Amino acid sequence: MITAARLTIDLEALAANYRLIRDRVVPAQTGGVVKADGYGLGAVTVARTLMAEGCRHLFVALFSEAEALMPQLESGAEVYVLNGLLPGLEPRCAGLGAIPVLNSLDQVSRWSAQARQSGLALPAVLQIDTGMSRMGLPPEEVEHLIATPALLDGIELRFLISHLACADDPEDPANAAQEALFNTIAARFPQVPRALDNSGGTFHRRGHFDLVRAGIALYGGNPGTGPNPMQPVVGLEAPIAQLRTIPAGTGVGYGLTFHAARETRIATIPVGYADGWPRCLGNRGAAYVAGVRAPIVGRVSMDSITLDVTDVPAGHLYPGAPVELIGPNQSLDQVAADAGTISYEILTQLSRRYDRDYLPVRAPALDRSTIA
Ligand SMILES: *Cc1c(COP(=O)(O)O)cnc(C)c1O
Repeated sequence: MITAARLTIDLEALAANYRLIRDRVVPAQTGGVVKADGYGLGAVTVARTLMAEGCRHLFVALFSEAEALMPQLESGAEVYVLNGLLPGLEPRCAGLGAIPVLNSLDQVSRWSAQARQSGLALPAVLQIDTGMSRMGLPPEEVEHLIATPALLDGIELRFLISHLACADDPEDPANAAQEALFNTIAARFPQVPRALDNSGGTFHRRGHFDLVRAGIALYGGNPGTGPNPMQPVVGLEAPIAQLRTIPAGTGVGYGLTFHAARETRIATIPVGYADGWPRCLGNRGAAYVAGVRAPIVGRVSMDSITLDVTDVPAGHLYPGAPVELIGPNQSLDQVAADAGTISYEILTQLSRRYDRDYLPVRAPALDRSTIA
C-alpha cells in the first residue's frame, strides 16, 4: 500500500548512463547538463552523483541556477551558464566563478571589461551559431572577433561550442552542415578545445571533439529514434484513492467526455495536470495496475485522473493499491509520445508535490586515478 504519489529517481541508473556515454565518447570528456533543476530531478543530487563518477563539466541554463548550485557542490567541477551573460551579471558571475557561455559580441565585450577591471583573466566559453539561430555568434561576428583580437582581452577561452538543431535525427542533413561550419570556424581558434554534441549527437555522430554536453540521455530519455540505449532513471506511481463501479452509459469527469460502454470499474488516483501529468492525456493515455493497462477515461483534472480498471483482477484493486504511471510497462518516452510531446517536457514538469525517493548508487565509483 502507498499513501501518496511517489517519484523514484534511480541514481544508479543515472550513474550507469553517465558511464555509458563516457565510454562511448572517450577521449572526449562527458559533461552533464543539469539545467532546469537537473531536468526536474534535483540539480544538486544529480550533479553530486555525476561528480562522484568523475564528471568535471556541468552546464546550467541560467546564472541563477549556477548561483543556487555551486555553493552546494564540492570543488572540482566547472559550472557553465549556457544562456550567457545578461547585462549587470558580470561582477556576480566573476565572483561566483561560474563560466559564462558568451553568445554575442556584446557579451564578449562586457566580460572582457570585467576581466580588465578585476585585473584577472576570466574563463569563458564562446558559442557559435552554426545554423540554429537561437544562441551564439553568427559567423560574421566571429570574423569580426578574429579580426579584432583585442575584443577578447582578459578572456581565457575554455571551449568553443555550437549546438545542433536536429541531433535527434541522424539522417537530417542539417547535422553535417552544422558540423562543417563548426569545423571551419573552429579551425581559426586552433588552441581552443571544442564541443558540439548534446545527447542526440553523442549517439549518432562520430568524433565528439573534446567534450559532449549530455542531458536527456543521462536521465533515461531516448537520445534518438531507435531502441533506447539508456537505463530508465525515473519511476512514478500513485495510489488508488477511490474505486467505484458505474453502469453502462454513465459519464466520467469534467465535461462528461467519457461515457461507459459497459459496466465499468473506475479508479481515481491523486495525480493531475497540476502535477505535470499532461491534460491532453484525457481519454488518451493510460496507467498500469498489476501490469494491466488501465486507460485514462474522462479529462485529466488538476489533482486527479480516472482510470478504467475493469480488466484488472479484483485482488489488485483497493484504496492504496499502487498504480504505475512511469515504469517497466510505460516508459517516460511512451508517456511523452502519447501526450504529443518529448520526454524533456514530461520530466521538467514533474510535480514538487510528489514524494521523492532517491535510490542510491549501488557500487562505489571506480577511482580511475588508482588504476595503473
Ligand atoms: C539543453 C542543452 C544540451 C543538452 O541537450 P540534451 O538533448 O538534453 O542532451 C546541450 N547543449 C545545449 C546548448 C543545451 O541547451
